[in-house]
Amino acid sequence: MPCQSSDELKALVEEARNCTKNGKVADYIPALGKAREDDLSIAIHYPDGRCLSAGDIEKKITLQSISKVISLALVLMDKGQDDVFKHVGMEPTGDPFNSIVKLETMAPTKPLNPLINAGALVVTHMIKGDTVKERFQRLLVFVQELTKDATIRYCEEVARSEFETSYLNRALCYFLKQHKMIAENTDIEQLMELYTMQCAIEMNCLNLARIGLVFAMDGIDPQSGKQIIPADIARICKTFMVTCGMYNASGEFAIKIGIPAKSGVSGGIMGAVPGKFGIGIFGPALDEKGNSIAGIKLLELLSKNYKLSMF
Ligand code: GLU
Repeated sequence: MPCQSSDELKALVEEARNCTKNGKVADYIPALGKAREDDLSIAIHYPDGRCLSAGDIEKKITLQSISKVISLALVLMDKGQDDVFKHVGMEPTGDPFNSIVKLETMAPTKPLNPLINAGALVVTHMIKGDTVKERFQRLLVFVQELTKDATIRYCEEVARSEFETSYLNRALCYFLKQHKMIAENTDIEQLMELYTMQCAIEMNCLNLARIGLVFAMDGIDPQSGKQIIPADIARICKTFMVTCGMYNASGEFAIKIGIPAKSGVSGGIMGAVPGKFGIGIFGPALDEKGNSIAGIKLLELLSKNYKLSMF
């Protein structure tokens, strides 16, 4: 067992907190700009039900890009691998998450992977249901099952703030539609509504660690023994987390830390240490690649101290 007490975690949080001053809170979604730069929290969830935590754990995080792993799992469960990978690829891009460049050079085929915005929008457009409300509800119920917390909701303020300013994502959607990478009858405003609600699903780092735990345990909820996500889909999601989960810093992250992880611009990181435990981190100050600067530092300390690299 790597970390035995919350006090051990507390010491790591205080060490990592020093570097928050070198980061910057994302403000391209205006509501995210209100976060406190020096906030930092972490939770580790073990299969036996123990959960250690430290830092500002009462603070809530919107999932942002972390939600892309969850929508991918749901859509793979609904539609199967053949259908999903007809619409989105499996390769890292090396470009920023919202870049349109590769999409243009790949046209008219498909976005390179489901964790960049173009690929995530394709995946979200495949969520089953007749209305935005119904489709979002399916995703939310899935998140509630993963976290084992029926009180999970989305933050309306953050969703609205992104919806009103998402010019680049709308551009990606129209490009996808023009090149038939999403269905021709897709209503882009409805897709943006669903996507921004998905990104604004809100929780604390303990909830996030529990999602990481389910992925770490190959899709099984270790407490109930229920297979929430089929093992091969959990494996696919973890593989994407390794190859593309930390934006265009994924290679360096794999070498230095070696844990499947996904970050979001809100400063959240969800980690899944295979067979061992789940990690949830919240630290809104980001580095130049868009990852939580103190969150990366914390994971570096954890990985080094407890030899967690899977490689
Ligand atoms: N909602 C954000 C966007 O699409 C998610 C990006 C992220 O967390 O990387 O811009």
